[in-house]
Amino acid sequence: MLSVAAIVAAAGHGERLGDGDPTASTAPRAPTAPKALRDLAGVPMVVHAVRALAAARGVDLVVVAAPPDRVEDTRTLLRDQHEGADLEVVAGGATRPESVRAALAALPQATTTVLVHDAARPLAPVDLVEAVVAALADGADAVVPGVPVVDTVKAVADGVVTATLDRSGLCAVQTPQGFRREVLERAHDAHDAHDRGGPDVTDDAGLVERLGVRVVVVPGHAEAFKVTRPLDLLLAAAVLAGREVVTGGR
Ligand code: C5P
Repeated sequence: MLSVAAIVAAAGHGERLGDGDPTASTAPRAPTAPKALRDLAGVPMVVHAVRALAAARGVDLVVVAAPPDRVEDTRTLLRDQHEGADLEVVAGGATRPESVRAALAALPQATTTVLVHDAARPLAPVDLVEAVVAALADGADAVVPGVPVVDTVKAVADGVVTATLDRSGLCAVQTPQGFRREVLERAHDAHDAHDRGGPDVTDDAGLVERLGVRVVVVPGHAEAFKVTRPLDLLLAAAVLAGREVVTGGR
């Protein structure tokens, strides 16, 4: 039997989202609150994310890495929003890997399996979370949801194209990503020991790949997109309005 904990990385600032005005013609203005605490349809992003993880079959515990100065606020926000799983809130770190590490340190001994999810993907559906857990239950050491790349992707240096990549072999990767706990801890230990100060680490599977561990891809979901720029807030609002129509607000 797996004992599954889901970590939510929620300690980022969200500079690219700015103040969230999708019509702004200039660079985004300074964010008004950490991204994970910004509202989507009146509900903070981190609340949407935690609800979906807690509701997924097999997830026993959700651990949120919150902005260090907002731990208490985050705890209060989430108090009644984690039906189906226990909840912990810890202080995140200065980088995403440090936030994940802080949450890993808070896991109980019994946890065998860890999901890592971005609060910035607040609308990832429960079915997607369950698909990742199912792949782990089938024996995978590491799992990522992936969607086909629709744009043509080019390598660029100094404003000049240096290559066109074959997109048939490319995949855009989402969260939640899932891991055997021991594998994820080993990957973060190796990163801490050798790679700190290296290029930005944007996902956990990237660290696990460096260990030579096989990472399985399951189909991702369009609604698990990352809220990064102001326009994404409009898309998220439209997705939530669509869900409201389907469920009648239940
Ligand atoms: O900046 P980016 O959108 O790639 O962040 C991905 C996720 O990592 C976000 O949910 C953000 O809150 C989280 N993060 C974090 N701690 C940091 C930086 C980012 O938990 N120091």
